[in-house]
Amino acid sequence: MIAPKFVRLQVTIPFDNSFVNLPPRFYDRQNPVPVAAPALVAFNPALAAEIGVSADDFPVEVLAGNVVPEGAAPLAAAYAGHQFGGFVPQLGDGRAVLLGEVVGPDGIRRDIQLKGAGRTRFSRGGDGRAALGPVLREYLVSEAMHALGVPTTRALAAVTTGERVQRDTPLPGAVLTRVAQSHLRVGSFQFHYARQDKAALETLAEYARARHYPEAQGPLGLLDAVVRAQARLIARWMGLGFIHGVMNTDNMAISGETIDYGPCAFMDTYHPETVFSSIDRQGRYAFANQPKIALWNLAQLAQTLVPLVGEVAPLEASLARFDDLYATEFTRIFTAKLGLAKPDVDFITDTLKMMANEGVDFTLFFKRLAYGQEIESLFETPSTAQDWRANWDRIRLPEADMKAVNPVFIPRNHRIEAALSAAEHGEFALFETLHTVLANPFSEQPEHAEFETPPTEDERVLATFCGT
Ligand code: AMP
Ligand code: MG
Repeated sequence: MIAPKFVRLQVTIPFDNSFVNLPPRFYDRQNPVPVAAPALVAFNPALAAEIGVSADDFPVEVLAGNVVPEGAAPLAAAYAGHQFGGFVPQLGDGRAVLLGEVVGPDGIRRDIQLKGAGRTRFSRGGDGRAALGPVLREYLVSEAMHALGVPTTRALAAVTTGERVQRDTPLPGAVLTRVAQSHLRVGSFQFHYARQDKAALETLAEYARARHYPEAQGPLGLLDAVVRAQARLIARWMGLGFIHGVMNTDNMAISGETIDYGPCAFMDTYHPETVFSSIDRQGRYAFANQPKIALWNLAQLAQTLVPLVGEVAPLEASLARFDDLYATEFTRIFTAKLGLAKPDVDFITDTLKMMANEGVDFTLFFKRLAYGQEIESLFETPSTAQDWRANWDRIRLPEADMKAVNPVFIPRNHRIEAALSAAEHGEFALFETLHTVLANPFSEQPEHAEFETPPTEDERVLATFCGT
């Protein structure tokens, strides 16, 4: 056990904490547990500026949890959740502590959380730590998602701890500084519903409404807003070939941000049944299941609001709007991706079916269409591509700006894995390059063209791991 260092640091993070002002049953006050030898791996100055803090406010001792900065009120939040369909009445931040909140120049309140910060009351069997690989995966993929225009938690920094964490083998330990509009989840509500704590549910619903959807009215308005935010979010994922991989209710944020980059992956070859997560044996969270699962999770949220609303019908009516909201957004996204003159659901559906049959690379297909490049070589049967293109030519809008919506670069699995394994050996060059390339995903970068291409047979990554 290492004693906390009493280093005097002139850090002036403009904390403005609100969650800690809720009653204690929402969290457990918990300081981060200090680590042996913190070293900075990555810091995100663009995000720092966006949220109104500076790099000077975040010396490595703060990022590692060895020094608790002035104004922080560290806590581990309580939440429950359905994991792969089974309810767990107590999960909670088992390896994360919320340092506090800051309100940015944009007026948005954000959480600053250290993930991998040591054991808490909610750690159950876990060690409260994170390994470097998963920390860098979350850093790269969450920042890529942001650059791709998807609502997401962000990565402010990553540090190594100088300690090893025991997984299948001992791995270098790390801490991620995560920034989110909040860490409230569907599971945050389920925690109090499971305890039949109506007062807590009222407090939480009002807190979440005021923080995220101030224009919404009451708990029903909150549900409506979350349904809308999630329908839009999942449609965005589908438009990028993103598979979350672990859509448990504790991993669905009330804010509508993507959260928890454990076993997530972007598809190379398009197929609706694609699953990467090594722990998703039934394919519950397969690519095409994501909208259904989102609705299932939202139904769990609705359930927790029954005691507040008093009747079920209006909550059901709110849930019933999900399918339309999602379908409208999905169609809008694919209409833009294909540069169609007007929405054409049948054409979109047929195109995706054809892509699955032909084993087409999802990202390259749309990128090449946007750049007027050939697509035949992406198909098993080139004549199918020619026939498809002839049909497409008849219904497309030649002046559509397809480059603005079809990325050139996505975080391809094989590149991520290569960057993480190099980093585990102390080599961060590939991590840096990937991060730079993915910061501008909608522009061709001829010097980095190798990051556009799908994996070769040998490079293909078949499974992703949670790393927990
Ligand atoms: P996750 O897969 O990261 O969403 O985690 C699911 C649950 O397990 C959450 O309650 C986490 O806090 C907890 N957990 C995951 N990994 C660890 C760990 N290494 N130590 C303690 N708790 C953990
Ligand atoms: Mg989680």
